[in-house]
Amino acid sequence: MGNRYKTTGKVFRSILVTLPMFLIILLFTTHGNLAFGSGADALAWAVSAAFFTLIFYLMLYKGQTDKYRAIAFGVSAVLFVVGFMNNLIEIRGSISYDAGNIYSCDIPFCHIVSTMVIIPAAVKQTIIFGGNLQGGFASIAEMLVIVAVAALLLGRAFCSWGCFYGGWDDMTSRIRKRPIIRRINTSFKYFSFAMLILMALWSAESLIPQYCNWLCPFKAVTEGERIVDGLTLAKNIIFYTLFIGLVVVLPILTKKRIQCATFCPMGALLSLFNKINIFVVSPDREKCTGCNKCVAKCPLMAMRKNHVPSMTCAKCGRCVDSCPTEAMNFRIRGTSAKVSASTARTIFLYLAFSFMVIFLGSCTQSGLAVIFKLIF
Ligand code: SF4
Ligand code: SF4
Repeated sequence: MGNRYKTTGKVFRSILVTLPMFLIILLFTTHGNLAFGSGADALAWAVSAAFFTLIFYLMLYKGQTDKYRAIAFGVSAVLFVVGFMNNLIEIRGSISYDAGNIYSCDIPFCHIVSTMVIIPAAVKQTIIFGGNLQGGFASIAEMLVIVAVAALLLGRAFCSWGCFYGGWDDMTSRIRKRPIIRRINTSFKYFSFAMLILMALWSAESLIPQYCNWLCPFKAVTEGERIVDGLTLAKNIIFYTLFIGLVVVLPILTKKRIQCATFCPMGALLSLFNKINIFVVSPDREKCTGCNKCVAKCPLMAMRKNHVPSMTCAKCGRCVDSCPTEAMNFRIRGTSAKVSASTARTIFLYLAFSFMVIFLGSCTQSGLAVIFKLIF
């Protein structure tokens, strides 16, 4: 009888805490406008709103963060690609681009481009990526503002909650139950900082976003440069090789998010914001038994030997979920004595999940709408 009351209370509390998030989901998935272009659009909105609400409710009710976050993150990453490609075909007539598209600015950009536009914008007052975005994409100014706010409020959590590419290696790193490659030098994660410096300087010097131009693995699943000569062939070979290697094969073999952990300049930039962010993941020393599960499970190779995450922690919550003694938890910096771990987690979840809905809600919706239009 006592247990039944406990469960009912937990369900009731979880529903109560989910309700405001439900309103946030409604606000950001409809943008205050419930007029849909077609039945498929309306159905896509209803399914994605229900999906995100259910995920948030389950995080609260089950008390697990990473498991449900990863479902939403992975599903959104795949649906983003579906919606993105469809959008490109509708707007530009092709998923591949050529020099003409570059000159007419018909190239969408993503948040990673911020790592390359900042120096030229500050020093030469030049925007080196003139992406002309239509059909539901944000403008470059909006994108920079949203990314800056996310970086300040969440630090590197954006890499586990908001990035529509991160879901890919998050998904592939979960395919195998156990890793085949167990020993990895965790210092590889600092290579992303070298990438950040190199890409920022090279792009500033050439006034071309060079990561997008040469190295982005996600060109393989979004838009590739049309092959017209040896140079464009070489670029495509690089895009596909990096995607297969860093996003598919190595994450499967190591169970680590290799692309995000070692290669992405955006991840390095956001890691710097972790230094000033109020949300941290940290262990309760009294409860910690030193079992090292958190070190082994961290997909970003961010957990140090002393069980304190380094600045590259993306606040995915996997170490929190896998800690057998509940020692590891989300906390608000400097408030451990006053704010309980469960309150800190709920506040973090509210912010992180809101960014997930802002960044991934419309991707999920547009991908679903494409699928529903094909089916019905
Ligand atoms: S998983 Fe938990 S108990 Fe084990 S080392 Fe990490 S914090 Fe300590
Ligand atoms: S330290 Fe924990 S929360 Fe941070 S990235 Fe690693 S598993 Fe995720």
